[in-house]
Amino acid sequence: MLKTRITELFDIERPIVQGGLMWVAKAELTSAVANAGGIGFMTALTFHEAEDLRAEIRRCRKLTDKPFGVNLTFLPSLRTIDYPAYIKVCIEEEIKFIETAGRNPEPYMAQLKSAGIKVVHKCTSVRHAVKAEKIGCDVVSIDGFEAAGHPGEDDITSLILIPLTQDAIEIPIIASGGFADGRGLVGCLGLGADGMNMGTRFVATKEAPVHDNVKQALINHGERDTRLIMRSLRNTERVLHNQTVDQVLEIERKGDTKIEDIAPFVSGLVGKEMLEDGEMEKGVLSAGQSMGLVRDIPTCRELLDTIMNEAEAIIKKKFAQVIA
Ligand code: NAD
Repeated sequence: MLKTRITELFDIERPIVQGGLMWVAKAELTSAVANAGGIGFMTALTFHEAEDLRAEIRRCRKLTDKPFGVNLTFLPSLRTIDYPAYIKVCIEEEIKFIETAGRNPEPYMAQLKSAGIKVVHKCTSVRHAVKAEKIGCDVVSIDGFEAAGHPGEDDITSLILIPLTQDAIEIPIIASGGFADGRGLVGCLGLGADGMNMGTRFVATKEAPVHDNVKQALINHGERDTRLIMRSLRNTERVLHNQTVDQVLEIERKGDTKIEDIAPFVSGLVGKEMLEDGEMEKGVLSAGQSMGLVRDIPTCRELLDTIMNEAEAIIKKKFAQVIA
């Protein structure tokens, strides 16, 4: 049992978080994480209509009576997104926790706070963490350079980012980027975080609603098999290396890249097809360096049990020996 400010705030048993995962964090996965004692965030934009998010929230409630949240990502998108409609659904469905990412959530803070929602802001730099605290966020989830998806443009690894964030803010911190096991959990607590976020690791679980080829790819590839695309657009994304990624990088190398030049390759809709049909060269798939640590496909319960056992063994046995 590890009690931290994060377990207290979310009223959960284990300081382990499944943050937003586009197309993957649906009711099956989020409820499985909740039932295993962690907290999961369903990814709102996975549902193209806000009403579909409402249906998914209700489906998740049938699968768990434990707390869960919703992720709202404000990054550039190829489609027009009606954010107020998603927020309205979250408030009406009495969601208690929202994870924001990609841009400052300030325009929505008053509305979220007056609905009693706790806001976790996911960001990639100390200055953005400071700003998140200043505008009233309740938690910062700080994303190191190792992370899958959009790790920002500063390239600062979790080892440096977490303690610097702890030095700069008072509110609880979730560590994201590079975490996949009990060693990571102990490490991030030691570095100053109150909880550990995992993304890639949760995609390779039995409950993740993706094709088995995707899960197997995360096992078969290692820590050196990610690439950074869209750096030329200052919207860097860390993805699994494949042929489509090489095509995107080739276009970017030519210079003066516009989103239109690479949109057919990076489109989320193609990525969604890839997750469903398992054709692994078809599009781009967010994946973190933590792939090197992914070696099996457990249930979420098995994964969280293993992580907690490993973390507690390190604290009780290894640390005790070191101190003695
Ligand atoms: P999409 O199909 O709308 O866009 C595909 C990719 O192109 C995304 O990475 C997007 O950020 C990028 N993009 C789109 N327009 C752009 C522009 N004008 N300039 C620079 N980059 C641009 O994406 P989707 O898969 O439908 O996802 C919807 C939203 O969720 C996007 O904002 C996406 O970034 C976000 N997302 C976030 C993560 C994460 O790690 N937090 C992972 C996947 C997707």
